[in-house]
Amino acid sequence: MVIALDLKQGPPAAGRKSSFQQRKPSLIGLSRAALAARLGEIGIPEKQRRMRASQLWSWIYQRGTTAFDDMTNISKSLRAELNAAFTLERPQIVTEQVSEDGTRKWLFRFPAQAPGEAPADIETVYIPESDRGTLCVSSQVGCTLTCSFCHTGTQTLVRNLTAEEILAQILTARDRIGDWPNANRPDDGASIPEGERAITNIVMMGMGEPLYNFENVKDALLTASDGEGVSLSKRRITLSTSGVVPMIGRTGDEIGVMLAISLHAVRDDLRNELVPLNKKYPIKGLLEACRSYPGLSNAKRITFEYVMLKGVNDALSDAKELVRLLSGIPSKINLIPFNPWPGTRYECSDWEQIERFADIVNRAGYASPVRTPRGRDIMAACGQLKSASERMPAWKKRELAFGVAERAAGL
Ligand code: SAH
Ligand code: SF4
Repeated sequence: MVIALDLKQGPPAAGRKSSFQQRKPSLIGLSRAALAARLGEIGIPEKQRRMRASQLWSWIYQRGTTAFDDMTNISKSLRAELNAAFTLERPQIVTEQVSEDGTRKWLFRFPAQAPGEAPADIETVYIPESDRGTLCVSSQVGCTLTCSFCHTGTQTLVRNLTAEEILAQILTARDRIGDWPNANRPDDGASIPEGERAITNIVMMGMGEPLYNFENVKDALLTASDGEGVSLSKRRITLSTSGVVPMIGRTGDEIGVMLAISLHAVRDDLRNELVPLNKKYPIKGLLEACRSYPGLSNAKRITFEYVMLKGVNDALSDAKELVRLLSGIPSKINLIPFNPWPGTRYECSDWEQIERFADIVNRAGYASPVRTPRGRDIMAACGQLKSASERMPAWKKRELAFGVAERAAGL
């Protein structure tokens, strides 16, 4: 059964004219220091700013408050000033779909950021399991990369998401699944203990290549993992990349979350076809960057994702080569049954073949490597996400795709 709630009807962003409206700046997505500086701009005395920034963080990220008026430890007059200057508004929820397996997918719409721009539509997915609840978060509208088996790759990138928009996906998902302190939850001013939360894990595996939007992803994940922020352990946050080699070291040093690599092939000729970024950053250099990933240990392994494509990359010789390539790297292997989408030329490997492949991987010491597909009935499974969105000029796409990472790495 699929339930689709059209909460606020409207044509998809691609079909809409620009709806730019100047809105009050949001306080979501700002570090405490940046938030304190913002408070300075509305005349809050310097000696109060740090304390006020901490209070606001607690209301925003630990309680999920969206109205300044509900912030009871802040004076009425200051609440009015905050209200006049800032917003904590959530994105519009265009649709919310619930899969028969409990997976939920939201289509969120963020406002245009500049005149002439369309609003940004992105998808976020929640996957409840018996021992955890994982939120799959998007980092970009669409993707500039064109992995041949990925639906998102067929969508032209509109733009990077801001830190506010990345965090807002987490906050809005928590609103919708009741994951804040309330009458049924401990409400002693602290956040819900990790073990009692609905969202226990975050994966940056939605739309987009997170390492092409490094600064915003970094800011958002540092707030998500901060004890005074969303307060999720860095071990429960995983960033998946298709292999932007120059940014891998910085991901470990500056963000420190778990890393997943979309490997999908063990030879460069095939990986060039499946993940075209491989032409720029081939397997050897990618694995070297993994070997020296900061903080890597047996307790903090890298996950290698491998999508199972019938007759393409699923030979048993590929499995043996996979195990050989990864030897010496503390790693986990995640075999992902291919999730089909309209118009794709690939098929998912037969189940028996996946089992034979998994056997070889298992015998090499990797436990339970096959990822169960979730939410296929609502197109919420890996690689099925795609929202309608408008094209951006080619020069901007190129800059986003190829400029940012290299510049940041000083190349
Ligand atoms: N851009 C990043 C993160 C998003 S994709 C990356 O590529 O790593 C999340 C995972 O889903 C990646 O491993 C991706 O290769 C995989 N994926 C993409 N399309 C898929 C599909 N149709 N079926 C199964 N997995 C897919
Ligand atoms: Fe982009 Fe990842 Fe899809 Fe490749 S697999 S097109 S990098 S979202």
